[in-house]
This record gives sequence, C-alpha cells and structure tokens, in this order.
Amino acid sequence: MRMLRRTMLVLAFASALSSTAFAQKSFTVGTATAVPGHRADGYLEVPAGADAGTRIPVIVIYGAKPGHVLALVSGAHGTEYASIIALEKLIPAIDPSQLSGTVVLLPLVNVPSFLLKVPHVNPVDNKSMNRYYPGKSDGTQTERASFLITKEVVDRCDYLIDYHGGDLDESLRPYAYWGPTGKVEQDRISKEMVLAFGLDHIIIWRERPTDPAATRYLDNTASVHGKPSIVVEAGHAGTTETDDVSLLVNGTLSTMRALKMLPGDPHPIENPVWLEKIIDVTSDIEGIFYPLVKRGTYVSANAKLGYVTDFFGKLILEPRAPESGVVLHINAVPSLKKGDNIANIGVVAAHAP
Ligand SMILES: [Zn+2]
Repeated sequence: MRMLRRTMLVLAFASALSSTAFAQKSFTVGTATAVPGHRADGYLEVPAGADAGTRIPVIVIYGAKPGHVLALVSGAHGTEYASIIALEKLIPAIDPSQLSGTVVLLPLVNVPSFLLKVPHVNPVDNKSMNRYYPGKSDGTQTERASFLITKEVVDRCDYLIDYHGGDLDESLRPYAYWGPTGKVEQDRISKEMVLAFGLDHIIIWRERPTDPAATRYLDNTASVHGKPSIVVEAGHAGTTETDDVSLLVNGTLSTMRALKMLPGDPHPIENPVWLEKIIDVTSDIEGIFYPLVKRGTYVSANAKLGYVTDFFGKLILEPRAPESGVVLHINAVPSLKKGDNIANIGVVAAHAP
C-alpha cells in the first residue's frame, strides 16, 4: 500500500516534468511549430482589415542543440529575386541536427509584389514593405504585415539579417549595411556579423530613427530593441546569377558560424571598403536614360553617369556624380520619370570604424 502510493506520486511528478519540458521544447512562429532537431513550415497570417489579408511563408528550423534565435528575412521587395532565391537555398542547407539555436526564416515577405512582378512596393497598398515598421494592427496590408513581423519575428529573435538587392530597375553591386547604435556590445556583435558575412563594401549607416514607435526599417526595428542586425544586398535587375546568390548563401552560413550556431570557422572579410555616405542622384525630368558607367565603377566627382534624352532623341540631361565614390547601383532600364533614382554613389570613409 505504502509502496503503491509512492509509485503513483513519482509517476505524477514525472508526467508534470515532461509536460513542462515539452512546453519549452517547441518554437512557434505563425502556424509553424518546430521541435528540437526539426524544421516546420507555416504562415504568418495577416488578417484582413482596411484591405485584403495575406499570408507570409515562415520556416522555423529548431536546432538539436540549444542556442540563440536568428531571423533571416527576405523579399520585402518581392522582385529582388537573388535575395529570395538565396533564402530558398538556405532552407534545405541549414541542417537542424548541426544547428545550435533556432533559425526563423521568412523568404518572401511581399508575396503580391513577387506574383505580380511589381518592384519597390506592395501593390495592394502601394507601400514599400521596408518603410512602415514597427507597423500598425489597424493599418493597410503593409502596416499590418509589419506589425505581425515585429511581434512574431523581431520580438522573438536575438539577431536579424534583412536581405535585399537590386530591384527590377536597379543594376546593383553587392554591399552590406552596418548601423552602429552607440551600445558597445551590440555594435561589437553586429560588426562581427557584417564582417563574417563577407561582402566587400559596407555602408556605415549612422543616421537612423531611434524612436521605437517609428523605427521605419526592419533591421532598425531589431536594432532599436537591442538586437544586433545587418542588411545585405546582392543581385540586380531581375537576375538570379549564381555569384550573387552564392554571396548571400555563403555569407549567411559564415555569419552563423561567427554566432556559434553552426560548427566551423567563419570567413570574415579582412579589409572591406567602408562607405560613410550614400548620395542619391535623382532625375528632375522624364525621358530615356542611357548609362555611361556600370555598377561597381569608381567615379570621380563630376563624372558623367549617363545621359537622358527626350522621346525625340534630344539631349536633355547629363547626370553627374556629386562626389567621388563607387556606383552602388545605377538605373538598369531606359524608363525614367521625374523623381526616379538614376544612381547611388557610395563615398569611401576616411577611416575604418
Ligand atoms: Zn529591397
């Protein structure tokens, strides 16, 4: 009798333990729930509101070993294809049995842009999906999606990488953004991440919103919440070239090694070109654009970047580089309307940070 009672008590205790352990040993984002050593697929369901609802694919890879949570997010601009394809390639490349910690992967935030081949914005509300963070639960689709990503992904992760590239109309050379915050430890880690990623041009992005209610960009939202984060860009004008995709895939794996989420050593870039300023060269006139320089070309101040004619072939504009620097991207198509971006020039920093 005594014996039996004791056995029953032990059993009850064991069952309480295992249910607690089970509750802690799954990781859910949206409809995807993964257990250690496994991957789960699902969606972030953005409910209908002022306009239609949508759903954003999410993959949770829960490592067999404990560790931090890394968020990888691509396709806010759904026609920056190289970055989307890179994350698609990472889904099977990250082996949960080798992984320490958890990867939350959003390969395509802006599904309507991808399906309808609309660059720069979400065609549902005509808003860029990387300008409205932290989002609003009662806003338009972009704002509601941003709100959900902030809550489900940014708030849950320890580190974040946001992937972009040249859009359909942008001929872009690869580069990364590093946004120092002034918090020493956070900046040390984000700098380690950006160096480990290995892109050879890095923009030092200093002037960013610091108000948590108006963080604007995804990586900045993570950053303002104390989470080391970087932005990486590769790919151009609708292409998915192996060189560009591989830079993003290998850069991610190297960064994960630097964060001790994967075994092995990272391959950090040793002497990147640090850029301290980005100059937008925009058009104040509509017409036909003819480039005279390529992405990645280094230009002197006042160098001609191209020329613009009207529809009768008459020269109407000769855009020039306002300062010396590298052509990070240049308009990839002849179409040019008033206000369009012609090129971005990155000015090399006087000192490495
Ligand atoms: Zn983008």
